[in-house]
Amino acid sequence: MSSAERVAAIIAAEATVLMCTPTYALRLAEAARAEGIDVARSALRVSIHAGEPGASIPATRERIETELGVTSFDHTGATEVGAHGFSCDARDGVHLNEAEFVAEILDPVTGQAADEGDGELVMTNLGRWGMPVIRYRTGDRVHGVRGRCACGRTSLKLAGGIAGRVDDMVTVRGVNVFPSAIEAIVRRFAEVEEYRVELVTVREMDELRCTVETRGGAELAERVANAIHRDLGIRCAVAPVAPGTLPRFDMKAKRFVRRREEART
Ligand SMILES: [Zn+2]
Repeated sequence: MSSAERVAAIIAAEATVLMCTPTYALRLAEAARAEGIDVARSALRVSIHAGEPGASIPATRERIETELGVTSFDHTGATEVGAHGFSCDARDGVHLNEAEFVAEILDPVTGQAADEGDGELVMTNLGRWGMPVIRYRTGDRVHGVRGRCACGRTSLKLAGGIAGRVDDMVTVRGVNVFPSAIEAIVRRFAEVEEYRVELVTVREMDELRCTVETRGGAELAERVANAIHRDLGIRCAVAPVAPGTLPRFDMKAKRFVRRREEART
């Protein structure tokens, strides 16, 4: 089924809830626009997103909510341990289901496990019979906080959702950056349809380069570069390309690319 056919099915079935990756929600919105369909006026009222951090990234979530006319929630998990978290009305993070899991956070420097703080999420599932895993290292980087949430829950909350994969963190000129931090900035620009970030190693130095798909040209690209510099303290070359140039994704997106460039002499 193509994306346009899925949009048509959503309209025909008067679907009220959509579950997919955040990337695919935006892809469906784009497909609807191309078909002249205002999906924001459809029966859809809620969207639930997994597979990527997008629904916990405010600018991405707002774009999904505006384009689809829904309220969006994040639903975290990992294949090996199952679905483990959900965002709440406070909209500033994800609660872990501690009735089903023992959650720990591994300090990346000391290797010590703690029940809150910064580090890698480690999970023990109490309810899986087929594939029980004990202290499974999820590879997800989180900031866990304890205390009562504005929604009333007291379970461990991952502030801002999952920041990204531990392996995806890059260090540019001494600054640690997750791809989700770049997305949080790029998605604030409504003129950007799609984007890609490359970490390029030149002469053993890492550089970030961003390509934005936009009709806004060099002026818009410069505004994105300035916002990245202001918010993250790093320089990132931003190049504009024409709409429809970058790849589209039906599942998890691959917008972050690493490559090595031979230095020209
Ligand atoms: Zn809450």
